[in-house]
Order: sequence, then structure tokens, then C-alpha cells
Amino acid sequence: MVAVTARTIVKRFGATEVLRGVDVHVPDGGFAVLVGPSGCGKSTLLRLLAGLEEVTSGEIRFGERDVTRLQPRDRDIAMVFQSYALYPHLTVRDNLAFGLNLRKTDPATIASRVAEVSAMLGLDHLLDRLPRALSGGQRQRVAMGRAIVRRPQLFLFDEPLSNLDAALRAQVRVEIRKLHDQLGATSVYVTHDQVEAMTLADQIFVLNKGVVEQVGPPREVYDRPRTRFVAAFLGSPA
Ligand code: ADP
Ligand code: MG
Repeated sequence: MVAVTARTIVKRFGATEVLRGVDVHVPDGGFAVLVGPSGCGKSTLLRLLAGLEEVTSGEIRFGERDVTRLQPRDRDIAMVFQSYALYPHLTVRDNLAFGLNLRKTDPATIASRVAEVSAMLGLDHLLDRLPRALSGGQRQRVAMGRAIVRRPQLFLFDEPLSNLDAALRAQVRVEIRKLHDQLGATSVYVTHDQVEAMTLADQIFVLNKGVVEQVGPPREVYDRPRTRFVAAFLGSPA
């Protein structure tokens, strides 16, 4: 799909500096997890990658393309949030097709994309249901389907599992990683959950108060934390 590079990202809201010079690189096909305690700036960083906020300074590239000043719709990304806001009055089928309809994709393509995605996510038998007749896990799957059906270059996840119970969380977590691999996607995934970070990531970025304290494969960050904060946060013996 596409590599993601964010260089020396600074983000201020008024006088508050929320991101203080953050660098992120995710290679094409990589699965990066941004992990850190509540309020450290994870969602802000993700929203900057999505184009939902503007950087104060710094640069964002998708592959060779400078997207720093582009609107979300021109960035070719899909975002999955914790509150999987489905349209309550639309069936699963129409929820899945919504974004494609909006783009005036032709009906045959829409039908085949919806069929493909619902097979992939095990939603075939639920296509005529309304969201209120689905379980939490099924709803989350529809939300992911909606993201996948557009075949974006980049997936951005913001704590997508936090509304699910523990058993479902483990199951959907495995599904997310499987889908990523199957689609050959590039993904950036935000969580405050250490287990999610350790099990999903190719590369972990540990954020603390608006800076990246350490980057590396999960095992390396766990075994060789570079700061006291990283050691304490990831729970490995310092
Ligand atoms: P996280 O996702 O890691 O919990 P956030 O990125 O949501 O953290 O927030 C980081 C900090 O930025 C918090 O202190 C939050 O209050 C502040 N913040 C986020 N969005 C805004 C905004 N639109 N205006 C002002 N402050 C904000
Ligand atoms: Mg957040």
C-alpha cells in the first residue's frame, strides 16, 4: 500500500503543546502501534495523520506524496474508532455500501465489494439486519467492513476494541491483524493497552507527554526499555 512518514510533528492547542516534535515512520505493509497513557497525545497524532487536525509544524508524507496540507478526503485513508457509529436506520448492506454510494461508484462494483468484504468478515448472513439487531462484535466488524470496502491506502485505528468485552476483544484483535496481513495494508493503531500493543505491532512507538520515548519491535522494547517510563509502562522488570 503506502509508507507513512511524519517528521518533527508539533501540535499546539492554544498555549498547550500536545506533541513536541514527534517522528514516526511506518514502512509499506507495516503495522505500527502508538501506545501510551491517557492524554499523552495518541489520538491527536492519529487525527493529524488523518487530516482531521492541522499540524502546527512538521511534515507528513504518504510514500512520496506530501499530504501535510491535504483534506481527509484527499488522503485515501480509513479510520476505525472505538465508537463504531453505524447508521441505525440502514441495514448492514447499506452501511457497508454507504461510502461507495457517496462516491457514486457503479452499482455492480458496489455489490461485488460488499460481497467480498462481508465474506471476509463473516457478515454474509447479517446483510439485511439493522445495527440494533447485532452484537457488539458484529457491529465492530461492520465498522471495519465499512473501512475496508473503500480499499484505502492506510488504516488508522483509535482504540477500536475498548467498547468490547474481554473475550471479544481478544478475538477481534486477532481478526484485525489477520485482515491487515490479508489486505497487505499499512496500519497505524492507537491503544493504551500494553497487551494489544505487544501482540499486534511490528513496531511499537511508546509516547509520553507528547514525545516518543522509544521505538522498536515489541520484544526489544519489552526486554530493553530505554527509560524508566517505558519500563514501568510496559511492565517489564527494569
Ligand atoms: P490520548 O489519545 O493519548 O489520550 P489526546 O491526543 O486525546 O490523548 O490528547 C492529548 C492532550 O491534548 C490532552 O491533554 C487533551 O486534553 C489535549 N487536546 C486534545 N484535543 C484538543 C483540542 N481540540 N483542544 C484542546 N486540547 C486538546
Ligand atoms: Mg485517545
